[in-house]
Amino acid sequence: MLKNLIGARWEEANRPTLPVYNPATGEVLEEVPLSGPEEVDRAVGAADRAFPHWSQTPLLERVRLMFRFKELLEKHAEDLARLVTLHHGKTLEEARGEVRRGIEVVDFALSAPTLLQGRTLREVTGGVDQNLFHYPLGVVAGIPPFNFPVMIPLWMFPIAVVAGNTFVLKPSERTPLGAVRLAELFLEAGFPEGVLNLVHGGKEAAEALAAHPQVRAVQFVGSEPVARRLYALAAAHGKRVSAAGGAKNHLVVLPDADLEQAVPAILNSAFGNAGERCLAGSVAVAVGEVGPLLLERVVEAAQRLKVGPGWEEGVQVGPLIREEHRRRVVGYIQRGLEEGAGLALDGRGVEGPGFFLGPTVLDRVSPRMAVGREEIFGPVLSVSYAQTLEEAIAQANAVPYGNMACVFTQSGKAARAFRERVQAGMVGVNVGVAQPLAFYPFSGWRDSFFGDLHPHGPDAFLFYTQRKVVVERW
Ligand code: NAD
Repeated sequence: MLKNLIGARWEEANRPTLPVYNPATGEVLEEVPLSGPEEVDRAVGAADRAFPHWSQTPLLERVRLMFRFKELLEKHAEDLARLVTLHHGKTLEEARGEVRRGIEVVDFALSAPTLLQGRTLREVTGGVDQNLFHYPLGVVAGIPPFNFPVMIPLWMFPIAVVAGNTFVLKPSERTPLGAVRLAELFLEAGFPEGVLNLVHGGKEAAEALAAHPQVRAVQFVGSEPVARRLYALAAAHGKRVSAAGGAKNHLVVLPDADLEQAVPAILNSAFGNAGERCLAGSVAVAVGEVGPLLLERVVEAAQRLKVGPGWEEGVQVGPLIREEHRRRVVGYIQRGLEEGAGLALDGRGVEGPGFFLGPTVLDRVSPRMAVGREEIFGPVLSVSYAQTLEEAIAQANAVPYGNMACVFTQSGKAARAFRERVQAGMVGVNVGVAQPLAFYPFSGWRDSFFGDLHPHGPDAFLFYTQRKVVVERW
């Protein structure tokens, strides 16, 4: 059974457990305890005891330790990627990409000596100077989703910790192994006890963190309904909250698009990570006469994608996370057909024992259908049609989410019009996954994000610090 990390000790939680699976085989790898308020309270207590010393540890010493952690991540990058593939299911190549994107946040955290600099305005009035300093908050908490077991925890604690906070991480109960390995490497890097604590669990542990009186800020990444609820709960308890939610991303293809470029990008966006990512392209909107050719090319390429265990050479689409989730995605396909969509490619025939579903393409989808409106989180691409760019933008803006929207075109004018009018916080032009690198914020809009300061980028340093303004007359 997995243990919680409280201070420097790995402790057993005497709690009911859930199995952690290898989704490509259905085999049980581990048991994860569902911690409750007592375990959360112990972890917060350890973080709280560590805070006075850690927050006063000189910044350069904090950065040096973070650099050691980064070196250990580099050294173990391949093992981390294999661990991600083992218990999440994504392909090894995708897992390597995930680990790299995560390490880049640690690289970014190393710029703390620049990003934590304050400001001074001398002689603001006669003989008076004004200074601004950044201070850490105290104990802060992170609640990541299942789909990036290494990258998303790394969005959270490295920036918080280098800024002087102490941290309680509650990994996803479906993919907790990545966070456990990160915590082991963090201790090995030499961070003092209590700076990072880890509590396994689900809803009960997450809610206990969001309501705990000593937790000053909560960073959540997960589905929209939980993001919305956790945002309200933590805010009601007086905390700072950053809550990133779900998505329904549109990929708009104009008649002048280069399909040699657009089709592989759409495929990677829709079926990469088996569609289980918040930047997955979910609806391809074909504008004008490009429709029939786009559908033909996408289907022809999608049916050649190889489905199988993520560690096998040449596999491009791994399994879904759980059998229940696979059934839910199949349910969406069925519902789409009942609501009038066409079935251009059917991935339902792929055999188990793992939780596999092949790439599926639904045709003539509209925003009125559940498949056109709701997040599916599986390898299902919906194709819809529009007469004009305006109509395509209106389709993208008709869903409540605003995580990402992409356009494929050779026209700078059309790309600019798209950028200006689409209601999404991450926009791609001739790319299928508009993922900002660590030094830009992960900038979801509308129901894809609750809060104001986003994950990573300079936003994250602001989120994890409070500012003190000092007015001086001597
Ligand atoms: P989820 O909402 O089920 O779980 C996320 C976290 O919340 C987990 O740690 C889980 O234990 C906890 N949790 C689950 N139910 C809870 C509840 N009722 N109350 C409190 N906590 C609860 O999400 P998931 O299925 O793990 O992840 C997939 C979702 O995450 C998708 O919707 C995806 O779009 C979203 N996501 C968003 C981003 C982003 O940056 N916007 C990034 C990755 C994933």
